[in-house]
Amino acid sequence: MSRSVKASTVGVLGVLMLLAFLSAGPAGASPDQITAAIDQASASCRSVSQQIWDFKELGQQEVKSSALLKEELAKLGYKVTGDLKVPADLVKDGIAKTAFKAEMAGKGPGPTITLMLEYDALPNGHSCGHNLIATSGLLAAAGLAKVMKDTPGRVMVIGTPDEERGSAGGGKVALLEGGYFDGTDVVFATHPGDRWSLDQRFLAMKRATFTFKGKSAHAAQAPHQGVNALRGVLLTFNCVDSIREHVRQDVRIHGIVTKGGTAVNVVPDLAQAEFACRALDTATMEDAYNRIVNCAKAAELGIGATLEFKEPRVALKAPIAVAPLLGEVESKLVALGISKGQFKDFNEFGSSDFGMVSYAYPTVNLWFKTAPDGTALHSDAMREAANTDEAWKATVVAGKALALSAYDMLTQPAKLKAVQDGFKEAKAKEGK
Ligand SMILES: [Zn+2]
Repeated sequence: MSRSVKASTVGVLGVLMLLAFLSAGPAGASPDQITAAIDQASASCRSVSQQIWDFKELGQQEVKSSALLKEELAKLGYKVTGDLKVPADLVKDGIAKTAFKAEMAGKGPGPTITLMLEYDALPNGHSCGHNLIATSGLLAAAGLAKVMKDTPGRVMVIGTPDEERGSAGGGKVALLEGGYFDGTDVVFATHPGDRWSLDQRFLAMKRATFTFKGKSAHAAQAPHQGVNALRGVLLTFNCVDSIREHVRQDVRIHGIVTKGGTAVNVVPDLAQAEFACRALDTATMEDAYNRIVNCAKAAELGIGATLEFKEPRVALKAPIAVAPLLGEVESKLVALGISKGQFKDFNEFGSSDFGMVSYAYPTVNLWFKTAPDGTALHSDAMREAANTDEAWKATVVAGKALALSAYDMLTQPAKLKAVQDGFKEAKAKEGK
């Protein structure tokens, strides 16, 4: 009796173990494999990071950096395409030479996740640490490459150049319009900084150039025959200053005079000013922007000059924060040893073409800590911090968090649906 009980217990245990094994997912694909592959790729990716840091190529000139990344992705088994066709008014000749797209199909149909890479520098080198954006993404790409043969869906890696001048539309805007993000379900990005953060806020931004045309005349002998174009610019500034009192605190309006006359004894017949308008959400920015344009129109009417103004085709939208996606990445970071207490929001914000992608698709940007508290982006100190062993350790954690979150999006339909629903909900509520 006792013997037969033992035998059947062993049998039941065996079946349970088999079931547990089967429910653990397809053989050969597991989160552990992803992190192991990332650890394995760490040394070579560190060297790629170092090289991009040394190249320090400015926007639209990231030739060596993009070539190196394309080569590394091809080595990992990705199908890589360069020289991407984009709208010709955004990038010279309509070819984004330093952009690229790499793809890897998994086992059968499924979601598409996109890793977004940046690699442009500033005049003082990689003071925004984009070498680490590129390589945290490359690490994630290496981790996912290991498991895609047993995982449904598709991984895309998009190399997005020229972020620093992104307001001109030559980076992510051009690639969005070129259709390179089409079919994406979720987009993942990172950025180094002085903290760990999942704060998604960037300011929406639109620029305006106002040109006033008047009539020149001798400023002393015949001023009554002239129309002073500079007055149009000055009135615009005064009018804009009078609306500052009545905009939300996060609205930023800043302008410069680019043309204001050529000789003091001649009534200026041409004057020009440039403004930028920003806010934490796109609708608020647009509202303030329209008021600035009305100020220029009022000035035109007041002085009788002619205003020339064309709204720019490219404006930057503010990102949409997707709570379930932030929760997903946060849980991965916590599991990787970054405690919740280490996460810190920002108090001040800039603008980025990142917002354009985040407005179009569920997107997350993970800020990872590479520099001491208080180190400003674009500073020499941030540049030096972007090339240290400490920064590299954080970069590896960021790459793992990205890959593990992406893997969940590929393999857990319920999580993906929560992210997609969260995105729609947050977008509908934007600015309200
Ligand atoms: Zn940056």
